[in-house]
Amino acid sequence: MTGPRWRSETLAVRAGYDPAGAANAAKPPIYMTSTFAYASARQAKDIHEAYFDGTGPEVGGAGHIYARLSHPNLDMVEERLASLDGAEGAAVFNSGMATHSAIALAHLRPGDSVVFGRPIYGGTNGLYTGLLPGFGVHHASFTDGCDRADVMSAVEAALAAGPLKLIVGETPANPTAAMVDVALLVEIADTVGARTGTRPVVVIDNTLLGPMMQRPIDLGADLCMTSLTKYCGGHSDLLAGGVTGREALVAPLRLLRTTLGSHLDPYTCWLMLRSMETVHLRVERSMDNARRLAEVLRDHPKVASLTYLGFLAEGTPARAVYDRQCKAAGSTFSFAVVGGEAEAFRFLDRLELLRFAVSLGGSETLITHPATTTHYAISPEERAAGGITPATLRLSVGIEHVDDLIADLSQALDAI
Ligand code: PLP
Repeated sequence: MTGPRWRSETLAVRAGYDPAGAANAAKPPIYMTSTFAYASARQAKDIHEAYFDGTGPEVGGAGHIYARLSHPNLDMVEERLASLDGAEGAAVFNSGMATHSAIALAHLRPGDSVVFGRPIYGGTNGLYTGLLPGFGVHHASFTDGCDRADVMSAVEAALAAGPLKLIVGETPANPTAAMVDVALLVEIADTVGARTGTRPVVVIDNTLLGPMMQRPIDLGADLCMTSLTKYCGGHSDLLAGGVTGREALVAPLRLLRTTLGSHLDPYTCWLMLRSMETVHLRVERSMDNARRLAEVLRDHPKVASLTYLGFLAEGTPARAVYDRQCKAAGSTFSFAVVGGEAEAFRFLDRLELLRFAVSLGGSETLITHPATTTHYAISPEERAAGGITPATLRLSVGIEHVDDLIADLSQALDAI
C-alpha cells in the first residue's frame, strides 16, 4: 500500500500490513521468534542470496533468516514509514542514535569529514565530535542553515580536512527549532560533487516535526532520519529510529544493522505500528495546544524570548524556508525566561502538571532545561553558538486540556 493514491492519514493506519499473509488477522500478529524455518535447502540458499546479494528467486519474497537480520514486524514498520516519508525504502533501528550511528558508519572512513548544523541534538553531537574523531573523522559546523555563506564556510573547512562525505541538517533543530534549508544543502552537495568528484550524502534529521508535518525526501534530501521515539512512538514508552530514502542508499544500512545488532524487536515494532495509526491525531491536537501556549508565553513579562515557528517574522530567510519545508509549526519549541539558570530552575521546580523530563513528542507535555540536560555534554561555547543559554527551556507540548497546561505554566512563571 504505497504510492500517491492514499493520503498519509490513511497510510498511517493501513500501509505495511496485509491480513492475507497472517491468517486474515485484521491487526498484525507479533512474530515473537528469533529464527525462521527454511522450507528446503534450496530455499535457504536462495533466501541468503536475496538478503546478502539482492539477487535470485527469493528477492521480494517473505523469507526471513534470523530476527537480527529482519523479521515480519520490522518489514511492516519499514513499509509504513517509507510510505509516510514518500520514500522508496526504510530501515528501522532500536533508537534514533542507532540510526544516526549506522548512517555515519556506512559513509565515513578515516580521513573523511562531516558537516552539520548547530544547534544539534546532544547525542548526535557526541557521535560526530566525541566518537568519530577517534576514528580519524573530521567535522565542521554551521550555525545559520539558511545562509549559503555560513554553510559554505563550514563545507570549506571540512574539505580542507578531508573528503566531505556527509552533510547533516537537523531541521527544525533541537531545541530552538532553528531552520535549515534542505534545498540549500542539496545544492551545496551537488556543487561539492561537481568540484571534487565525491558528492556528499545529505541527511535530514526530521525528528522535531516527524513525517506528518515535513517530508525531507520530497524536498530533495538523500536520507531522512527520524527518532521514532518521539512523535511516531508518541507515548514516551519506547525507543526506535528510522531512515528512509532511495533503496540503493537504505539497503546497505539494513546490512550494517545486521552487523551492529541494532534492529527493532518484534514487540516494539508492533507498538510502533499501533502508535503510527494515531500520529496525525496526536500531532494535530498537540500543535493546537502549542499555539495557545506560545501565545501565553509571548505575552508573559517573565519570558524574554520564544522560538515558536508559527511566529517566524514575514520576510526573514527562516520564514521563507519554513513556508517551503514545513506543513505546520509542530509542538516543540523553546523559550527563555527573564534571568538565567536560577530563574529557570525556580520555574521548573514550581511546575505541577508539566513534566520535567528529557524527550519530546509524547502525549504528555514535557519540559526540559537543555543546557543542563539534553545538551549538557556540548561545550558552553558551542551551546551558545546554537542559541542555547542558561535561561533556555524546551517545551514539547502534549494533548492534555490546554487550559490545564496554561494554568500550570502561568503559575510557575508568575513565581519566578
Ligand atoms: N535526533 C534528535 C533531533 C533528537 O532530539 C533525538 C533524541 O532526543 C535523537 C535524534 C536521538 O533519538 P533517540 O533518543 O531515539 O536515540
